Amino acid sequence: MINISGQSYIAGNWVSPRGEHFQSFNPYKNETMFSFSSCGRNEIEQAAKAAESAFQLMRNLDGKTIGQFLHAIADEIEALGDQLLEVADSETALGLVRLTGERGRTCGQLRSFAELVANREWVQASIDTALPDRAPVPKPDLRRMMVGIGPVAVFGASNFPFAFSVLGGDTASALAAGNPVIVKGHPAHPATSELFAHAIDRAIGKCGMPKGAFSLLQGIGYELGTDLVKHPLIQAVGFTGSETGGRALMDIAAARPEPIPVYAEMGSINPLFIGPETIKTAAESIAAGLSGSVCMGTGQFCTSPGLAVSVASERFETTLKKALSGAPRGYLLNPQIAVSLQRGLKRLRDHPHTEWLNEAEFEEGSMTPPNAVFKTSAQHFLNDSSLSEEVFGPVTLYVECENEDRILEIAKNLNGNLTASIHADQDPDLAARLSDVLEQKVGRVIFNGFPTGVEVCPSQQHGGPYPASSVSTSTSVGTGAIVRFARFVAYQACPDHLLPDALKNENPLGIYRQVNGELTKEPI
Ligand code: NAP
Repeated sequence: MINISGQSYIAGNWVSPRGEHFQSFNPYKNETMFSFSSCGRNEIEQAAKAAESAFQLMRNLDGKTIGQFLHAIADEIEALGDQLLEVADSETALGLVRLTGERGRTCGQLRSFAELVANREWVQASIDTALPDRAPVPKPDLRRMMVGIGPVAVFGASNFPFAFSVLGGDTASALAAGNPVIVKGHPAHPATSELFAHAIDRAIGKCGMPKGAFSLLQGIGYELGTDLVKHPLIQAVGFTGSETGGRALMDIAAARPEPIPVYAEMGSINPLFIGPETIKTAAESIAAGLSGSVCMGTGQFCTSPGLAVSVASERFETTLKKALSGAPRGYLLNPQIAVSLQRGLKRLRDHPHTEWLNEAEFEEGSMTPPNAVFKTSAQHFLNDSSLSEEVFGPVTLYVECENEDRILEIAKNLNGNLTASIHADQDPDLAARLSDVLEQKVGRVIFNGFPTGVEVCPSQQHGGPYPASSVSTSTSVGTGAIVRFARFVAYQACPDHLLPDALKNENPLGIYRQVNGELTKEPI
């Protein structure tokens, strides 16, 4: 058993910073637990300097070594055993079943990045050989590939204490690309974060990685995150959380003398569209599936479906209402989320043009909210952008449309989202038109399904147009996430012995490369 010390971890050293004190919180018992104190500029400076010197070693490591390191991190997470699950459950109330699954996903992510980088195909090597005789000007030899970007700051997410936190997808993809990582731990699960730091500390020791490869800065308040993003040695940021937080960090990064990219995954209402004919035949099953998806994780998923769009259907409405009211109430992650959900429910309840179909009590200070469904008309939804705002929790808004064209109008007026779902088997024309519109609005279009449950695989796209993500061209789930923390470098007329192995003539890594426009493993 590891003793929770309340410390931060900087490049191999456990430190007790002098900043603001805070405590982790048990949502089940509504009481505080372990004590921590916040890091500040001194700790950022130490972590950043150590990360920069670690980068000078890590950028030249071969893929196998990085892969072994990622495997070792996954092994050490598993070796934390039940303590990790129990501590995380006490800090998040997510339950042991969900957390066991999330641990499997987290280790799976690390291992899939390990496999990806073991051969260096991810660097997208591309070679165009010289044409010295080309007229009117000779063509030079050009060879391009991806390289690590440098020290990366990662903000742990409150709602995924494993998969998107200290050693989650952002950290895994940044390390995989050969970058050191400095995590700003989320103050909602600091003891869990500390355990993860022990796991990576052991992996660093086992694999002989530089100590500055990883630091965990615990803290509460915006100053720590702001100063971290402003630090000149930080080269990129990974973030999962609120739109306000993500946007603030994007603006801070853009205002730096040397701006850096922020990969923020933020708010999303994940609309579900149901065709008029389809709802006639499948009202009950779609309502039941939607209810399950809304309640999953007490609605604290970035993919929670906060909007259902269809024509009027008494059967759909009644089933949805009954299913949501009948589902057991879940726990919220922390008191801040409870306060913001109270605010969101009140805003919808007091809105002159919405109806709370299954209104229920949600007392101040309670951590177990009702599973709520509201209803409004298409016209009122289109007239008031506040109805498109994410309410983080088990809440959905049913928008009743007059006809198919109105359903389509709602789709056309959507902001960027992570996902959209189409249930329109009996409405093939609408399905095609919706698919065409939604492809331009979201990162993942789902047919006859529900958005929660994000498969981790190379074909996944978790990211969409703003405000779903800050950079719609990237994904934060799946091995494709690695390119966020890498950049292309081209070598022009470079002598073969000075080229990285991925670009050398004889192709010593035996990887696929684009050579003069053709994908091949052949040497040149
Ligand atoms: P958050 O408020 O965005 O905070 C995430 C992290 O960013 C925390 O470490 C926070 O620091 C830091 N941060 C936030 N704003 C900042 C700023 N202006 N400058 C510097 N650092 C900043 O997210 P959260 O704490 O997880 O939850 C709050 C709300 O976000 C929820 O009620 C929910 O509405 C939304 N949320 C959405 C998603 C989603 O996937 N769409 C996920 C999680 C949360 P401190 O906490 O230390 O102050």
